[in-house]
Amino acid sequence: MTFRLYPNKQREQSLRYHRKLHKDLYNAAVYNRFTQYQKFKHSVSYIEQQNSLPAFKKVWTEYKEINSQALQATLKRVDFAFERWFKGLGKRPKFKSIRHYSGWTYPAKTGYSVESNGENGYLNLSKIGRIQMRGKAKYWGQPTTCTIVHRNGKWYASITVDVLEQVLNSKVLPVCAIGIDLGCKSALSITDGENHQQIDAPKFLRNAEHQIKKASKEKRRKQAPNKTKKIKASRRWKRAKNKVSKLVRKVANQRQNWVHQVAAEIVGGNSFVATEKLEVKNMTSKAKKGKRKKQSCGLNKSILDVGFGMLRSTIKYKVEQIGGVFVEVPIKKVKPSQTCPRCGHQNKKTLDVRVHECGVCGYVQDRDIAAAEVMLYWSKGTLPGFGTSLEDDDVLSSTSRTSKKAGSMKQLGRAKRQKSTPTGLDVETSPRAK
Ligand SMILES: [Zn+2]
Repeated sequence: MTFRLYPNKQREQSLRYHRKLHKDLYNAAVYNRFTQYQKFKHSVSYIEQQNSLPAFKKVWTEYKEINSQALQATLKRVDFAFERWFKGLGKRPKFKSIRHYSGWTYPAKTGYSVESNGENGYLNLSKIGRIQMRGKAKYWGQPTTCTIVHRNGKWYASITVDVLEQVLNSKVLPVCAIGIDLGCKSALSITDGENHQQIDAPKFLRNAEHQIKKASKEKRRKQAPNKTKKIKASRRWKRAKNKVSKLVRKVANQRQNWVHQVAAEIVGGNSFVATEKLEVKNMTSKAKKGKRKKQSCGLNKSILDVGFGMLRSTIKYKVEQIGGVFVEVPIKKVKPSQTCPRCGHQNKKTLDVRVHECGVCGYVQDRDIAAAEVMLYWSKGTLPGFGTSLEDDDVLSSTSRTSKKAGSMKQLGRAKRQKSTPTGLDVETSPRAK
């Protein structure tokens, strides 16, 4: 989270002076690396430069005033620039003018302190002083790192905090509950009971499979390398191969961006999320039906499938990280797509019926929105006809630990973070059998 800084004249001068010293150190470190290599063919490492800091400070005494971890962080920036260059990811590191030098970082909890509860406040920098800052953080906690940035004539402090610690201590959480139906037609149906929203996968992601297939086909038509026949890869084949891998990478990036955007949007205002439980068994039994089917299913749907799997686990992770509750609804038990969210009446719908129309109470709703509503109400224990389902032993044993919590909304405030890591973000795919 970034705060704008409002230093007075004297502090501003100090900030400029510190920035200049960091810039000079940066340039000295770059110079040191280049000359050592040119003269002695010696590649200077980060550790070497870090170890030479005390000697450096003896000569350039003005650096004694500066937080030594911040100095190390500046050397790390140099190391980073060189590493990127060596790996072909960046250009040859250059000497920087003060105009192009943004600032410096306090990588640990020393050299600065923050007086704020997440909105406005003051930043204390050692040897510089107390500076007013303005801005509002979404989540707040113990500051861990602080980066001072000078951009377009303005000063900013970018502060990272340990959110988890804060959530554990907080008693009040914004409780907005939603149900999500991850549909098979690439739409995401979200409801809070009153407002509904449907999100579609971006067009590129929907077409990606087709594009990759087309590019792979092009590649296959070119002369492929073959070691036994001693055929070298043709230039056209190489070019086609590059095109395919570029496309695959692009899709992966876009998918990840989309997942994070949507997950952040969903979790932003909601700490209670109900969605269907993944039925892993379904996937294997489905695959057994026939090799052909497996192939077409597996390949055709993989990109979006992986996207949905990632989306699901990312939402789960984010909800639990802010201390919220992620409820997994057992679809076999609750049958969200066949139950009326208003009256609880169950009526079988085939997949092609896109609208829920209740024959008992007359409720009409989009099929996926209705399913999301069912999951939301069931999780809150307000689904008609399922009012006592959470006390049902059978259901409890078949749902995960999170859904037990959902039985009581009072527990929500006390909900502690569950130890969860975002592992398997890539491997988890959703079977979505309906
Ligand atoms: Zn009904």
